[in-house]
Amino acid sequence: MIPAAFDYLAPASLDEAIDLLARHGPDAKILSGGMSLIPAMKIRLAEPAVIVDINGIPDFEYLREEGGQLHIGAMTRESAFEQSGLVRHGYPILFETAKVIADPLVRNRATIGGNIAHADPANDHPATMLAVGATIVARGPNGTREIAADDFFNGFFSTALEDGEMVTEIRVPAPTARTGSTYLKFERKVGDYAIAAVAVNLEVDEAGHCTSARIGLTNVSDVPMRARNAESALIGHAVNAKSIEAASREAAAECDPKADLRGPVEYKRDLVRVLAGRAIGRAVARAQGRTH
Ligand SMILES: Cc1cc2nc3c(=O)[nH]c(=O)nc-3n(C[C@H](O)[C@H](O)[C@H](O)COP(=O)(O)OP(=O)(O)OC[C@H]3O[C@@H](n4cnc5c(N)ncnc54)[C@H](O)[C@@H]3O)c2cc1C
Repeated sequence: MIPAAFDYLAPASLDEAIDLLARHGPDAKILSGGMSLIPAMKIRLAEPAVIVDINGIPDFEYLREEGGQLHIGAMTRESAFEQSGLVRHGYPILFETAKVIADPLVRNRATIGGNIAHADPANDHPATMLAVGATIVARGPNGTREIAADDFFNGFFSTALEDGEMVTEIRVPAPTARTGSTYLKFERKVGDYAIAAVAVNLEVDEAGHCTSARIGLTNVSDVPMRARNAESALIGHAVNAKSIEAASREAAAECDPKADLRGPVEYKRDLVRVLAGRAIGRAVARAQGRTH
């Protein structure tokens, strides 16, 4: 349970961090909250020769609205989402996602940038980022670029980040007056990873028709995924018990869970059906201003 030896570097600026990552190449690993990296190093699943600790970089933790988007600094801790009134009232799906991650001790350290860059299909933020249509801002030796969440998660624990690139910011579009969103997770016990979870972000017009819908699923596929067939079962349709049931059945059919200690495939699919139904119902109620 003791990590292999490594060199520890603590850059004081983003530029310095990018230089260090370029200089050490694949030998280097970024350390943010350490909540996934350190356990992996302890069991020698990861043996980086160099750790680049980005905790000392100033102005890297923030939540601020700008140009119709919520800008989130990559080093923003999960606990900051729970404590922010802006997030709680303006972006309830982010609040609901952060508050079901692990336990308060982990949430005080773990960062949004690490959660997304780690790309664990069991992590909670990826599905939410897919549902809200987030943009991930990455910076590397060739400058800064923006990556749509849809293009970011591209394999098992794999992302579109290129060598030497790091996540610097996440941008989430501000909800409209007719947006409703929610994150619903089912876990074996408090603090555990999801058996399954569903993120829903949709809009409903005055006539009660769904005009847009994005649904992300957690821990029921090798790569964080959107339930596109479920979205299609909602978009353009009146939102009612029938269309919600149709969409939740689609989500259950299109996910791809594996049997493990958290349950067999059939159970997980049915859990997705139930969670999707409840999450869509809650998002619709929020979109129609019937609940918060
Ligand atoms: C007991 C326990 C329970 C947990 N339960 C949950 C849970 O229920 N839900 C959940 O989502 N997570 C859970 N986790 C995992 C953990 O919360 C997340 O994976 C964590 O948020 C990762 O963020 P971090 O800042 O700690 O990343 P780190 O552990 O520091 O890094 C993770 C990986 O991302 C890379 N990285 C970090 N920051 C950046 C960056 N800015 N740019 C590019 N790469 C970067 C690192 O090099 C490393 O490969 C749990 C962890 C523990 C220890």
